[in-house]
Amino acid sequence: MSGGVLISELSWTSYDAKLKRDNPVIILPVGSLEQHGPHSPLASDTIIPTEIGKAIAGKIGGLVAPAIAYGYKSMPRTGGGNHFPGTTSLDGDTLVRLTRDIICEFARHGARRILILDSHYENEMFLIEGIDLALKDLNSWGIGDLKVMKVRYFEFISEATLAKVFPDGFPGWPLEHAGVMTTSVLLHLRPDLIHMDRVPNQKPVIYPPYDLFPVDPAQGTQTGILATAKGASPEKGKLLFDEFVDGISGAVREAFRL
Ligand code: ZN
Repeated sequence: MSGGVLISELSWTSYDAKLKRDNPVIILPVGSLEQHGPHSPLASDTIIPTEIGKAIAGKIGGLVAPAIAYGYKSMPRTGGGNHFPGTTSLDGDTLVRLTRDIICEFARHGARRILILDSHYENEMFLIEGIDLALKDLNSWGIGDLKVMKVRYFEFISEATLAKVFPDGFPGWPLEHAGVMTTSVLLHLRPDLIHMDRVPNQKPVIYPPYDLFPVDPAQGTQTGILATAKGASPEKGKLLFDEFVDGISGAVREAFRL
């Protein structure tokens, strides 16, 4: 049950009526299909923002669009690398065009407030480019009142929670790929998809401060994770999830003056 917040489950007449009546925030989760270690599902980056989006929609009266479930190419320093089987990625201009098209379509049907919930580190600038080009297109069509907010959910975490989740010290967001945070959140949301007995027990993978192309798969992580998820738990996952939902809901209310 999703409480009627999924656009894909509404009829066109219900969608149209809701857009006209409530001017709801349209929430677009963006993730990836990308390896997340031997213990987590390929869709980790898509499941998490979709569930966060559903919870936010319930709080603020928004609607959740089907996710963009593929992302820009996984990079070794932030995701392990694009060479892993299952990591199925888009070229940058494909993601830009997809983002631009979807935003323009929502606006064409009357949406004026869009929240993009990004979960995959490598997507960032392609989403920003898609938003910028969509706003230019819409302006030239006489639609100048669309507002788009883009957030990365993991930036909505307090210092106190960070200290609880990482009692031995926070390794930094780039190393959090399939680490304690994402694994904990998935243990809370979808424990059926997490295999804690398969979590590699390894030291953080330290990369030099540059990228080298072509990527050498023999360099860097061999398991797909950058820092171990051994400390993950569903309790930490609930704490994180609730904080993301509350924090982003508050920011959305502020940004869109709800
Ligand atoms: Zn990712």
